[in-house]
Amino acid sequence: MAIEFSERLKALPPYLFKELDRVRDEVKSRGVDVIDLGVGDPDRPTPAFVVEALDRAAADPANHKYPVYSGMNSFREVVADWYRKRHNVDLVPHLEVCSLIGSKEGIANFPLAFVNPGDVVLCPEPSYPVYRSGTLFAGGEAAFMPLLEKNAFLPDLRAVPEETLEKATAIWVNYPNNPTGAAASLEFYYELLAFAEKWDLIACSDAAYSEMTSRPKPHPSILEVPGAKARAIEFHSLSKTFNMTGWRIGWAAGNETLIRGLGLVKSNVDSGVFQAVQLAAMKALDSDHREVAEMGRLYAERRAVLCEALDRVGIGYLHTDYTFYVWARVPRGLDSKGFCAKLLNDAGVVCTPGNGFGPSGEGFVRFALVQEVPRLKEAAERIEALKF
Ligand SMILES: *Cc1c(COP(=O)(O)O)cnc(C)c1O
Repeated sequence: MAIEFSERLKALPPYLFKELDRVRDEVKSRGVDVIDLGVGDPDRPTPAFVVEALDRAAADPANHKYPVYSGMNSFREVVADWYRKRHNVDLVPHLEVCSLIGSKEGIANFPLAFVNPGDVVLCPEPSYPVYRSGTLFAGGEAAFMPLLEKNAFLPDLRAVPEETLEKATAIWVNYPNNPTGAAASLEFYYELLAFAEKWDLIACSDAAYSEMTSRPKPHPSILEVPGAKARAIEFHSLSKTFNMTGWRIGWAAGNETLIRGLGLVKSNVDSGVFQAVQLAAMKALDSDHREVAEMGRLYAERRAVLCEALDRVGIGYLHTDYTFYVWARVPRGLDSKGFCAKLLNDAGVVCTPGNGFGPSGEGFVRFALVQEVPRLKEAAERIEALKF
């Protein structure tokens, strides 16, 4: 029997990093001491008090049952408290908050609740690939909004054609942004929501990096805009904030109907987050965020190490206080892939080609600041030793 993938799997874009993965493995097998600044996965461990909370909760048989798919009431209350503390936003926990098995799960499942075959979903590019793949899996069509340097890597909403907008049901934004590190202002969210109202769009915000900053305050939330809950949903995660990518916990918050639809999909495809993980996550969210602030300072220090070297060799990059990415311009005469290959082959440094996140990423590479300062200094020295 010839087994074939479904049309929806076949419609997924090709995996663009395959060739670079192969070269990285080949360079490593030559015995080169490779410094990996490729993956967007924090290198530091989860704070000890969170691990200890999991330990205790895992030992309690009350947590060994199927959880409630939309999250424990106490978890949703802690999320609502967190929004009040961090963003001055009021949420009704049992109606306007839903737990997720990592925000990726919610981002991928959300279109199944609100996108019909043939509907258009506006997605930024370069971007995290899940806005597009979730849309495709729901039978929708992604229309891309390029994030360009001349617009500070914000989408130019006026550039979206009217005939696209007439078919559109939702718009995605992600700030602080992966891969560029760009931030948005609260004014941008005002404009976005006015635009979404005009064209009757659901406004979806991926805020996974809102706490990853060296500034004293978090990045603004779309839900801070008065009336946002009429059409907005925000996807959030403990993954980057608390170095918890492996734990698989996040949440969605916002419009009650959007939360209910997402919950309906989830009740048919998963059974919620392990309660012990929810209890540990509550401890993290309820804490004074001292570890989060420390990580913010650490990433700023790491950023300075890499960026000072880029300055010395004349490579431009986006200045930002957010995320753990450096979005750097490729030197003249090279493209994204060629620059990554050169860094890997000649310096043993792994970064990610910008065009892997979408065509407008061509001409850029993304460095993830996921090595300690001495290793980053080593990477910086090796990059400085290259001739461009
Ligand atoms: C890392 C990341 C997430 C978080 O994913 P989880 O599933 O919560 O681990 C979401 N969005 C973007 C853009 C990311 O880079």
